[in-house]
Amino acid sequence: MRLALFGPPGAGKGTQAARIVAAFGIPHVSTGDMLRAAVRSGSELGQRVKGVMDGGQLVSDELIADVVADRLGQADARNGFLLDGFPRTPRQVELLDRILARSGPLDRVILLDVPDQVVEERLLGRAVKGDGGQVRADDNLDTIRKRLAVYRDETMPVAGIYEGRGTLARIDGTGTEDDVFGRIAVLLGRKG
Ligand code: AMP
Repeated sequence: MRLALFGPPGAGKGTQAARIVAAFGIPHVSTGDMLRAAVRSGSELGQRVKGVMDGGQLVSDELIADVVADRLGQADARNGFLLDGFPRTPRQVELLDRILARSGPLDRVILLDVPDQVVEERLLGRAVKGDGGQVRADDNLDTIRKRLAVYRDETMPVAGIYEGRGTLARIDGTGTEDDVFGRIAVLLGRKG
């Protein structure tokens, strides 16, 4: 199963992604996680993207598409994968189409729908408490607002593209983690 998951920052993508990949036995391809790992390792890629990420901006479409192409070229992604946080702009949709030209298109694109106010509350909680013990460098009020604006301006149009292709599924991202995963499991045809 070839899947992509997206939604505003704070929609619960990371949590739901972990459950989807466990249930379906597919690799979790999170561009945010890959970039954070690159920053931690101090690699050339990490040094290039650190400032952009800390400012809540998107790294360049071509750069992130190269990272994704490399990852999807690995053997474990041959029979399916979950893309988390990519594609995030209309241009990234085009680049992904090229990457998938030979293997076939995405089966489903899941949009986790969460109202802005809920997102802000959740993100501010994460900024104070941390996410798994660590406060992310991009979880402060200014950057959160910036990331929400970037999501609205650059990522929302991606939903329309997949809607037009009949691939988009909007999932209500409110309620408990179990509630949300239950909805996704029904969509994907497996019990939660
Ligand atoms: P995330 O964990 O998905 O919220 O990503 C954290 C940060 O990594 C984003 O704010 C961007 O700076 C960068 N990033 C992750 N995925 C992408 C992408 N598909 N395109 C551009 N930048 C990305």
